[in-house]
Amino acid sequence: MHVPVFKGEGVIEFEDRPVPAIKGSTDILVRVKLCGLCGTDLNILSVPPAHKATLNIILGHEATGTVEKTGEEVKELKEGDKVVIAPRITCSQCNYCVKGIENQCENYRTMGTTIDGALAPYAVAPEKNLFRISDRVSDDDSVFFEPLSCVVGSTVRAPLEAGGSVAVIGAGPIGLLFAQTYRALGAGKVIVCDNSDHRRAFAKNADVGTVLNANMDDLPEAVKEITGLGADLVVDAVGNQMATAIELARRAGQIILFGLRPHEETSISQYTITRNDLTVVGSFVGLNPFEKTIEFLEKGIVKPSEFISHRVGLLDLPEALTYMHSGEAVKVVVET
Ligand SMILES: [Zn+2]
Ligand SMILES: [Zn+2]
Repeated sequence: MHVPVFKGEGVIEFEDRPVPAIKGSTDILVRVKLCGLCGTDLNILSVPPAHKATLNIILGHEATGTVEKTGEEVKELKEGDKVVIAPRITCSQCNYCVKGIENQCENYRTMGTTIDGALAPYAVAPEKNLFRISDRVSDDDSVFFEPLSCVVGSTVRAPLEAGGSVAVIGAGPIGLLFAQTYRALGAGKVIVCDNSDHRRAFAKNADVGTVLNANMDDLPEAVKEITGLGADLVVDAVGNQMATAIELARRAGQIILFGLRPHEETSISQYTITRNDLTVVGSFVGLNPFEKTIEFLEKGIVKPSEFISHRVGLLDLPEALTYMHSGEAVKVVVET
């Protein structure tokens, strides 16, 4: 395989690697068809890095493909099955796994950040990290399984009453997935805010709801005008927008903090959270949201493929990363 390999601060190099071998008895070799790029990949490759990754690994953690070969103790999946990958491999033994809070596993490994990922023609994953998905779901939709699962996991933490209003800060792929998912779950008014002209134009075209310029003079007032009292639920899909989220939420509303910006500190009005009875929920990758995410995709409840802005081959990865850096890309998918 001629694949892009992570070589340290900001560096990707192509190397020839053998097709990975099945090592564990429950491992499966997957023929990868499509792999999505996301903000985490950019964070890994930024200088200094904003996300840790192991040197010399193949990146890529959002993939769909078919089962090529199975280890001897694989039970459910068989050759030819269409699958999607849940890239975080948890230990089942630490204090959090034992409590059933597996998304907080203390010994997790993640394909594409700590071990080899799926920006390659072939990848190996344990059976428990692969989910069968109907052939009727297109590759373009199923490649969104991983980011969608994180969003679906968040909606479980912050349910919305039917007809409720949602304001999403950040119109990248995650923000758009939140807008589409809450709409599918019965939201009334959905508002998406972003400061990039390009992302706002894309969001308008995708018809996810009312699109507002996050840099406008009085964003809270604009949200109030649309929702009446302020948004019932606000999502920060960026990672440093809590102060704005507090201003956009109505009294007794909910806020989901989803984006990850490990090196940024934000100053917020704790008084407003208390005075306005706000519920603030941090949500990290979701707790076992996988079956529900498959159901959303198989029933066509969400159609994330409309958020693909660029489609490239593996060799074009360095160029694709520049589109993402410049903010002109929404979702980039890589044909492997
Ligand atoms: Zn991702
Ligand atoms: Zn664990």
